[in-house]
Amino acid sequence: MPINFTDLALSEPLQRALRDRDYTTPSPIQEKTIPYVLEDHDVMGCAQTGTGKTAAFALPILEHLSNRPKKRTPKAPRVLVIAPTRELAIQIHDSFDAYGTYLNHQSTVIFGGVGQNPQVQAIRRGPEVLVATPGRLLDLIGQGHISLRELEFFVIDEADRMLDMGFIHDVKKIIAELPKKRQSLFFSATMPKSIIELAGSILKSPKHVEVTPPATTVEKIRQTVCHVAGEDKRSLLLHSLEQHPEGLALVFTGMKHVANRIAEHLEKSGIPAAAIHGNKSQSARVRALEDFRSGRIRVLVATDIAARGIDVKGVDLVINYDLPNEPDSYVHRIGRTARAGAEGRAISFCDEQSNGLLTQIEKNIRTKVPVDSDQPYHREPRHEERNATPPRGGQGGGRGRNQQRRSGGGGGAQGGGNRRQNGGGGNRRSRPRRRSAST
Ligand code: AMP
Repeated sequence: MPINFTDLALSEPLQRALRDRDYTTPSPIQEKTIPYVLEDHDVMGCAQTGTGKTAAFALPILEHLSNRPKKRTPKAPRVLVIAPTRELAIQIHDSFDAYGTYLNHQSTVIFGGVGQNPQVQAIRRGPEVLVATPGRLLDLIGQGHISLRELEFFVIDEADRMLDMGFIHDVKKIIAELPKKRQSLFFSATMPKSIIELAGSILKSPKHVEVTPPATTVEKIRQTVCHVAGEDKRSLLLHSLEQHPEGLALVFTGMKHVANRIAEHLEKSGIPAAAIHGNKSQSARVRALEDFRSGRIRVLVATDIAARGIDVKGVDLVINYDLPNEPDSYVHRIGRTARAGAEGRAISFCDEQSNGLLTQIEKNIRTKVPVDSDQPYHREPRHEERNATPPRGGQGGGRGRNQQRRSGGGGGAQGGGNRRQNGGGGNRRSRPRRRSAST
């Protein structure tokens, strides 16, 4: 029997905010996590974005804050949430604001890439909740603008991405600043050894919560794969967007410059589009996201890391223009559609170089993605392509015609993902070692 929010020990101001948003039933991560947090336990949660994990920690923390009111102290928040990207940090802050509407609640968000003064001013006003990316947080602690001495709750979100993006030292420095007496909540989509170790250094006797492993979260998304020659991918993209004219579309590419070129190509073809990736300025990223959310542009072309944490309602279509290097990224990417029960669609382009990646993805999601051979650019993959094993570390191998795209400059948006798959083994941009594995 699914429970309702009214069954959880959350006070009326929070229930009212939930009613405003038409949330009636807690998601599985919320149902499991909220009672533990209310009972003062540390929690280690294995859950992806899209499962409702933000409310799973924000609601019970807000409940605790309102039950134990305290005078605001400038510069010293009661709650610290750290997140790997500014987009995710902004969304977490927005969620605290939304759920805390009917409480006397104030939260603030800080991140790098923009001037620090407005952020410093906001912290001086003494918000209860501070959401931060690690680098800017440490800067402002170092300059004496933030103190963690009043901290009661510490949340680390998307811990695996945090490590992928090289934040481990920053995170350790932050942990060293935390008061010993606190409640800590730790969320990660995956639980490799490095993450378990990190969690061990933060949490005390945690309750473990796990929801839907990746293989099942994608079930409600209608997925297809289009076999296509690399040179026909742009035409197939236009065709796919024409075939699915409704709603917003998110297109994923492996490389930043490819994202730029595709966005330009779409614009020239009369489809409003923008690219979002790590080389774009903060203001350009914010603008692109706002334009996408408001529907001013229909297509957002993104690299993996730039897309992390993007939560845009109404994404009906995800197109993998390039297949991801890492099978897990496939799930993260297509999880951008079909959020919170809505139906979504994901189309993946598989060119002559990418069959090995497709095989890995299918193994990971434990299902075969149906092939759409009805599209005008269909090409039949040759037998040896189907059995090819992709090089470790992803597409970095540079084989044949697409060499430049696959090997050049790959350390940017996707470098982190590769590092993770290689067990942190550093830079392996050399030639693929396992090319001979095709049998
Ligand atoms: P998150 O995993 O926190 O990024 O949340 C994913 C999306 O689900 C966000 O758009 C939330 O606003 C939405 N959401 C979270 N919890 C619920 C719920 N219980 N019912 C409906 N939508 C929800």
